[in-house]
Amino acid sequence: MSSVFWFTRDLRLQDNSALNLAVRSAAGADGEAHRVTPVYVVDSAEYASLEGIRQHSLTESLLALNASLGGRLNVLHATSADSSAPGSDSFGHQIAKAATAAGSNRVFATRLFDPAGKKLQLSVGKFLAAQGIHLILEGSPYAVAPGSVAKPDGTPYRVYTPFYKGWMAVGWDAPVALPEVKLDWRLMPGNEGIPAPTKASPFAVKAGEAFALRTWERFKKRALDQYDENRNRADLSGTSHLSHALAFGEIHPRTLLAQLGNSSAHEVFRKEIAWREFYADVLWHNPHTTTDYYEPRFAKMRYDEGALADERLTAWQQGKTGYPMVDAGMRQLLETGWMHNRVRMIVASFLVKDLHIEWQHGAEWFERNLSDFDPASNAHGWQWTAGCGTDASPYYRVFNPILQGLKFDPDGAYVRKYVPELSHLDGPDVHTPWEVIGGYANGYPARIVDHDVERHEALARLEEIKAS
Ligand code: FAD
Repeated sequence: MSSVFWFTRDLRLQDNSALNLAVRSAAGADGEAHRVTPVYVVDSAEYASLEGIRQHSLTESLLALNASLGGRLNVLHATSADSSAPGSDSFGHQIAKAATAAGSNRVFATRLFDPAGKKLQLSVGKFLAAQGIHLILEGSPYAVAPGSVAKPDGTPYRVYTPFYKGWMAVGWDAPVALPEVKLDWRLMPGNEGIPAPTKASPFAVKAGEAFALRTWERFKKRALDQYDENRNRADLSGTSHLSHALAFGEIHPRTLLAQLGNSSAHEVFRKEIAWREFYADVLWHNPHTTTDYYEPRFAKMRYDEGALADERLTAWQQGKTGYPMVDAGMRQLLETGWMHNRVRMIVASFLVKDLHIEWQHGAEWFERNLSDFDPASNAHGWQWTAGCGTDASPYYRVFNPILQGLKFDPDGAYVRKYVPELSHLDGPDVHTPWEVIGGYANGYPARIVDHDVERHEALARLEEIKAS
């Protein structure tokens, strides 16, 4: 007996319940190796459209997975996600080829929960079924699968804190190790190989399961016990930097949760893992919210469009708004493919509430550039900050980018690191170059808007939708 394993956003061997099922079901006669054909399908058009950092991230993840499989990862290139499209080299066609090559009628994969992932697996499942091949979906990229936590009346939670309590009450399984059996990872004819990036990355990306486990071990020694105190500080490396690994499934959240204790720091870290699970649950119940409003009344808000708005959007994207904390964050994104969570909130608030540009423009820019892009965390991180999402606060938050900078980058080290035009300024002066003689000596741009004025404008626009 042999089986096919279709890797998606679960690029790891350990703590992978779907892979374990594929391995177990491939048991041969006594003493024979379990024959599993591991497959990854690349969407060629999507890969070509990715920015350099994202192409390099995916390629590095696949190279690492291939190495852990002894060079036996089969990579097939699909031209369409829609397996019903006639004559296409769709995901369904490619996976069917792998099943035929393996002489198996069983393909295993981790169940996906985001709208695009669900649609893809549904389409592949139907295509395979028509050929007598079963697609068996198991496990999830989460400790608690979306849709499993519900209010006592059975409806989904709309607010994080009660969700967290429900999530803890549902609980999760212990991590599972890859079965210790004799394994024969099978190479198939027609393996097209891991795609090589066509665009440059500003730095050498590191990825993969082993790297994720090392990053976790380092974080545990370095910062986990101070996580509650330091996680909001943009100038310190106080967070785990595991978001890419979690988004690509190079590590499962169960692996992390199983090693947490009950200290305040560990509890806060567990709560951050739960935010990821909350947003996945919200998107599962509201698939339209990848691009549409969770709170529909916000769709009626007046947003800016036209040449001036486009100019401001470009200034925001390139980190040239004249607000140091915003610009440092946007440049960190371009230089590293990652941005500190607190700064993501500051730049998102600035785009929506200071520049009055709809959140979807920001979410799209993040999607293009974040190496940890996750459909649920991105859409709902944006909607939360824009005020149209799951934020339960009774008031409309408008982040002050200057005060946020002074609080979460108190000595200015973060801004100096990413905004070289301000590196000549000492201490917190970097947050207010307009108040310092010579603040603009190195060509840092003037502020494109006045925060105090725009804050009032944002609140006035909120009143308009409340009135209507
Ligand atoms: P840590 O602080 O070490 O947290 C551990 C893990 O918990 C993270 O890796 C992440 O998986 C999860 N997590 C932490 N905070 C959040 C949060 N607020 N929401 C959801 N999950 C969280 N995260 C993504 O993984 N992908 C995205 O595309 C994404 N887009 C975002 C967009 C906006 C506008 C905002 C405000 C937040 C977004 N986040 C996103 C959430 C968060 O910023 C990142 O997960 C975090 O910065 C990653 O760094 P870390 O791994 O060091 O986090």
